[in-house]
Amino acid sequence: MPAKPLRSTLASINLTHLRQNFRTLTERAWEALPSNTPRPAMMAVVKADAYGHGIVPCAKALLEEGKTLGIETMLGVAFAAEAAPLRAAEDMPDTRIAVVTPPFAHGAAEYCRLNLEFCAASRTTMQAFSAEAAKTGRMLNAHLTLDTGMRRDGIQPHEALEFMRSVSTLPHINIHGICTHFATADEADKRYFQKQIQIFTETLNTLRDAGFSFRYIHAANSGAIAEANVTTNREARNNALFTLLRPGIALYGYNPSHELHSPFALQPVMSLTTSIISLRRLPKGEAVSYGCRYTTPRETTIATIPIGYADGFRRGLTGKARVIIQGKFYPVVGTICMDQCMIDIGDEAFCVGDEVILLGAGQSENGAEVRITADDWATALGTIPYEICTGITGRVPRLYEEC
Ligand SMILES: *Cc1c(COP(=O)(O)O)cnc(C)c1O
Repeated sequence: MPAKPLRSTLASINLTHLRQNFRTLTERAWEALPSNTPRPAMMAVVKADAYGHGIVPCAKALLEEGKTLGIETMLGVAFAAEAAPLRAAEDMPDTRIAVVTPPFAHGAAEYCRLNLEFCAASRTTMQAFSAEAAKTGRMLNAHLTLDTGMRRDGIQPHEALEFMRSVSTLPHINIHGICTHFATADEADKRYFQKQIQIFTETLNTLRDAGFSFRYIHAANSGAIAEANVTTNREARNNALFTLLRPGIALYGYNPSHELHSPFALQPVMSLTTSIISLRRLPKGEAVSYGCRYTTPRETTIATIPIGYADGFRRGLTGKARVIIQGKFYPVVGTICMDQCMIDIGDEAFCVGDEVILLGAGQSENGAEVRITADDWATALGTIPYEICTGITGRVPRLYEEC
């Protein structure tokens, strides 16, 4: 465990919660499958620095948990460069890493060097990759990516067969996966989701009839795993969703939206704390912070905390955020600055150094839990918890704990 950093602002990353969420997800997926089906494999999505939680420690914990559960586990990133710290880390030399965003042809050398699996979505790119892999005599694993409705990447389903015929002859590429990505898996209306599953399943069947088989069939992001039971038929579950799971946000403790029919019970992995750096007693009618947008409504104490929008405590939360000190909520008042902001603590006798929770849970006087989540921030900002977690910047030290 590294020494506690000097700055009091900290993101604590609870790896035990990360492991629990891994379990919760795989159990939900497995329950949805017919009883004799093997456990699905896991591609834990750790892009964007594990959604802001820190890629290397999170990846290690996830791989360990997979091992404990006897689940084949690999990692998913969005760009090849994100795999570099994983490859540089000790203890996970043979980890399989897939890049879920299609590559450029000029990325071939990097993919070979880092030994990455890639999205097969362009013949030209695949030729370049095969040629590069030939130099060292290796095989690169790839996943055929189908655009079943997201319109972001992948090849069109009606072109899939011809595409497979033309690229399956490339000598140094082994297409062992087929995948797609859902546009609306986390929305209450499941029609478009079902349509994508249907197109995916039909395309898969066409390819199978032509003799192509895939070890990994994957489409299930967090929303799709949560909703599998309520929305999809058994064949679709078997075929389209669950030979390999591909969740991100749920691993980190958040449901992808509030619209799910059967949300997961998850544990947020990140909490964000700081401590009071100074206090001032002010009379009624004094202005606070840039723009003088807050005026003390009575004599009160204003506490300053060393966290601001450059840490990811977004300026848009001005007038909307609160914090927890010793089990009670207090409002953040006045404009949130780049590095600091202020809290109105009324007549409380808090001291410099007292802990302030921005994200996380505390206990109220009567023992009840009080909590602030990335969902609360997201609601206030009109965004999603993904953007909150990935928005906690690199200036905030991450401290890893197991409990
Ligand atoms: C980010 C991403 C995921 C994970 O999605 P969540 O909604 O976080 O579960 C899965 N697949 C692809 C292709 C992605 O880009």
